[in-house]
Amino acid sequence: MHDWLIVGAGFAGSVIAERIATERGEKVLVIDRRDHIAGNAYDHPDAAGVMIHRYGPHIFHTNSAAIVEYLSRFTEWRPYEHRVLAMVDGMLLPIPINLDTVNRLYGMDLDSEGMEKWLETVREPVAKIETSEDVVVSTVGRDLYEKFFKGYTRKQWGLDPSELAKSVTARIPTRTNRDDRYFTDTYQQMPRDGYTRMFERMLDHPNIELRLGVDYRDLKDTPDWGRVVYTGPIDEYFDFRLGRLPYRSLRFEHVTRDEEWAQPVGTVNYPQTEEFTRITEYKHLTGQSHPKTSVTYEYPSATGDPYYPVPRPENEALFKRYEALAAEEPDVWFAGRLATYRYYNMDQVVAQALSTFSRIDARLGGVSRR
Ligand code: FAD
Repeated sequence: MHDWLIVGAGFAGSVIAERIATERGEKVLVIDRRDHIAGNAYDHPDAAGVMIHRYGPHIFHTNSAAIVEYLSRFTEWRPYEHRVLAMVDGMLLPIPINLDTVNRLYGMDLDSEGMEKWLETVREPVAKIETSEDVVVSTVGRDLYEKFFKGYTRKQWGLDPSELAKSVTARIPTRTNRDDRYFTDTYQQMPRDGYTRMFERMLDHPNIELRLGVDYRDLKDTPDWGRVVYTGPIDEYFDFRLGRLPYRSLRFEHVTRDEEWAQPVGTVNYPQTEEFTRITEYKHLTGQSHPKTSVTYEYPSATGDPYYPVPRPENEALFKRYEALAAEEPDVWFAGRLATYRYYNMDQVVAQALSTFSRIDARLGGVSRR
């Protein structure tokens, strides 16, 4: 008999398991239906011995010192600032759009002030910004929108930016300086020995039992636990009784190349041509030295594993109805990206998991360190 069942060994499940095991001293059973821990952050050496991320590139970045401090209990780090280039009109140009992007694309020689003024001339005024298209054309104008965003977004979401909520592109900055880092967070670093190793250390606790290749659906009718933390899809928990929450999926094609380097930066985006959206070369991220290199092509798809919640108001409304059902479930806590139907970065999921643990601890009180 365990005090807790934790469904899912990704960031949400593993952090909460570690906290309950360490702080409350209670016995935890962690299950995952996959044959590995670390959820979508899972990394491993491929057949050639090059470290890859099975579910696409995961780059750690955060502004929270507390999240870094917590994860540092389980890993050391290597500094890494991610850079992305976009293949546009046959050139590899920095994205987010910066001073170099526009100067090289249009053969100009603007300085920062010149770019501000130039942007004023190309921006299209939009009375009420509602869609992703509105956000971009009102910031950088129609030509940059069409070259860098329109095709990429259509591939990624299977929808035109004019059909997508403004939140999808609202967080993409435009810079009038030459900063070509993809992220500007205070902390940008990768777990030195990889994500999977970090999770192994997190789950290595005498109060934690781990069972892989086990689905909650096959256990739930014969419970041998007290309480539950569920980090799987919330609609699946309720047997899809209100309908399915829509997701966009991806197919990953992992390829090893017989050359030391394949591309100049971690990720190259393909907004205009090709069926895939981007190619990532892991050695930039991991710092690994190897005579070969491995890359991943990402092909967006309507079917497959749930990766990106589709941000449309009707989907949010359906989620709210599931959330109301979840609130009625006794002794079940819902956490993580799938149970809360949100696109969250890893640091946000860790923050959510830590606050879920605080709520658990506050509600149940009486820490019983065993
Ligand atoms: P998950 O990692 O999905 O873990 C949930 C686990 O629950 C899974 O392992 C699943 O198998 C298991 N599970 C579900 N249902 C059941 C069930 N019924 N029974 C048993 N087990 C079950 N974030 C960043 O910060 N930086 C990035 O660069 C980044 N890149 C990303 C790239 C892609 C392509 C994607 C899709 C996401 C990326 N993210 C990135 C987000 C990151 O993957 C998530 O923040 C993180 O993985 C969420 O952790 P989680 O525990 O909520 O979910």
